Amino acid sequence: MPLSASVLIDGPSELVFDYAIPDQLKVLPGCRVRIPLRNRPATGTVLRVHEAPEGDFALRYLTDLVDPEPLITPELLKLAEWITSYYGTPLEQVIRSIIPSSIRGEKGSSKTRRAALIDKPPSEEDLTILAKRAKRQHAILSLLTAASKPIPITELGGTSAASSLKSLTEKGWVKLIDLEVRRDPDSGETFVPTQPLTLNPEQDEVLQAVTKSLNSEEPPNPILLHGITGSGKTEVYLQSTQKALDLGKNIIVLVPEIALAPQTVQRFKARFSEMVDEIAVLHSNLSQGERFDEWHRIRSGKARIVIGARSAIFAPLPNLGLIIVDEEHEPAYKQENPPKYHARDLAVVRCRLEKCSVLLGSATPSLESYQNTLAGKYEIIRMNERADGASLPLTRVVDMRIESRKQKGRDAILSDVLRASIDQRLEANQQVILFLNRRGFARSLQCPPCGHVIQCNHCAIPLTYHRADERLVCHICGHQAIVPKLCPECHDPAIRFQGYGTEKAETIIRKVFPSAKVARLDTDTTRRKNALRDTLRDFRAKKINILLGTQMIAKGLDFPNVTLVGVLNADLSLYAPDFRAGERTFQLLTQVAGRAGRGAMAGEVIIQTATPHSPSIQFARHHDFEGFVDQELEMRRQFGYPPFTHLALLLARSSHERRAEFTLQTLHRKLAENLPDGITLGDPIPSPLTKSHSQFRFQLLLRGPNARALSRHLNKILSATPTPEDVIVTADLDAYDLG
Ligand SMILES: [Zn+2]
Ligand SMILES: [Zn+2]
Repeated sequence: MPLSASVLIDGPSELVFDYAIPDQLKVLPGCRVRIPLRNRPATGTVLRVHEAPEGDFALRYLTDLVDPEPLITPELLKLAEWITSYYGTPLEQVIRSIIPSSIRGEKGSSKTRRAALIDKPPSEEDLTILAKRAKRQHAILSLLTAASKPIPITELGGTSAASSLKSLTEKGWVKLIDLEVRRDPDSGETFVPTQPLTLNPEQDEVLQAVTKSLNSEEPPNPILLHGITGSGKTEVYLQSTQKALDLGKNIIVLVPEIALAPQTVQRFKARFSEMVDEIAVLHSNLSQGERFDEWHRIRSGKARIVIGARSAIFAPLPNLGLIIVDEEHEPAYKQENPPKYHARDLAVVRCRLEKCSVLLGSATPSLESYQNTLAGKYEIIRMNERADGASLPLTRVVDMRIESRKQKGRDAILSDVLRASIDQRLEANQQVILFLNRRGFARSLQCPPCGHVIQCNHCAIPLTYHRADERLVCHICGHQAIVPKLCPECHDPAIRFQGYGTEKAETIIRKVFPSAKVARLDTDTTRRKNALRDTLRDFRAKKINILLGTQMIAKGLDFPNVTLVGVLNADLSLYAPDFRAGERTFQLLTQVAGRAGRGAMAGEVIIQTATPHSPSIQFARHHDFEGFVDQELEMRRQFGYPPFTHLALLLARSSHERRAEFTLQTLHRKLAENLPDGITLGDPIPSPLTKSHSQFRFQLLLRGPNARALSRHLNKILSATPTPEDVIVTADLDAYDLG
């Protein structure tokens, strides 16, 4: 029986065809191949190799291999299979995202330049003659002799040097070659080399654990590094990387978003400045050509350290020794398009498959990872001291119920306390960061005078207001209620949605502080390329006094002149309709507080809230992570949320509202028939984001103790249920964004 290959054809159409494999070719999944397509030659990537279907004589033969080696490693293929079985995504789709189109396609293929180099050095005699008769040829020869490496023709005078080069090659002294050029995304940058710092005992303990793990015979357990903000995690990453390099192994460093981690990349390049050519950086802003070059440098083993955002988990790095996941709690590690993988979870799986070490670091570990340490699956090591000996900033909580009474009827945006503190900072020429988290904006109902939030009794999350039919809906179980006229707690009629966004806040702040230079950073203002980078640079250069932004500026940034951080409305994230809202608020407040007082001056944090006694706020204020997780895990256990269950979100969207709703209702009915034991099925409801990109969205949630059982049941029903052509149905296992 001849073997055949399923080949993904290069080009925008993403076609997959089967071809027979000629006997003499060694074709493996991931190989690039030449194939006949209709009557033209084409290229593609082998997705799978299988036995040709019996009696299928129509199969054409593939012509040849483009590269002898597959584009991805056999280990990455195993990872792809794991993703298919866990998330229920077809293997073809997984491989498509592991080998992005710019790598598969022809667009980025490597770039070359004509260059000259010495072939056979001329004699002294020849040189003397040349110096007199052909000055130009003499000049080129001396340059090439001095360089003792190829020099691009453009640097020798370009076309004006053509005739000189011609005679030099004819005399056999010089030869011309095609020089491969690397498109280096960081070209032009310089790095000041740094030496390893002396570790404090806490940092040293982590390094010892990583070293032990790197040398372990058995597949080691992942290590969770819980280190407070400013405890010097990056230095531990750098020295751990050195340990892996010393053992001849390679390293992947994942950061949540490369635009927000320029300092991390800089610090790696500076520490390993002698091997800066062996560091590859992968991120979404690379051009097709840059991505192509970086990928091939990784695959060929020329790069030994790969730094990148979530998709860098698919870097085809051979001989992997260590994966570092910085800020492992960040939702940015979750891919929102299929395959909807979580890069931190894949890091753990990849380490198991390749028997290498994994170091997860965070000041506020995710409950998922923390629970794994309690269950003995991960090792946990803590760093509770700031590396520079600085103390954590003083955090004050301001009760906005009092402000709301003072500023009757209007949105209380700035409390008197915060206003006075900002004035002080402006006076002293220090800088201020103000946060306003827009998640959950105008969705949950809160009573300004008493702070009460209307919640679902079954699910412990706020009910969400749906304007279209004036209803309150629970996005976990589907429970519905009518909008009350008076606050059920204090009977005040002022109950309403949480008011304002960053734009309105900016207007008020400009009005209150007319002489201050104010900048705003959110998804609206950062649409322009480099807007985020430019604003942060201006802020660092002290051209901006007050920086107002969403959570996008909460993490990783380090501005020594910032002495005040204000959280305008902590309740916006705290009462988002999501069971992780408490965790995210705790993380946000902790990260935000970590921004203040990084320099020599003491920092201060002011948190404005109408629920000052909420545990997330109080534990964050006292920098008490253990206290927070104890009560939060108890809530999750009680209401059956992750990490004690897995959760899947099923979404139907269409420009035709009724058809989207009907499709989801049909799926709900079929999911309910023969529902496996242990799986809970929520009712179909309109998504919190009811309409997006002119499409109506409906969703339901499933929960169960076993991820694979959940995705099996979902996929069984989805593949057996035909859906209308204009309705798109997607499933998201271990969903982070609940709509
Ligand atoms: Zn509910
Ligand atoms: Zn009230």
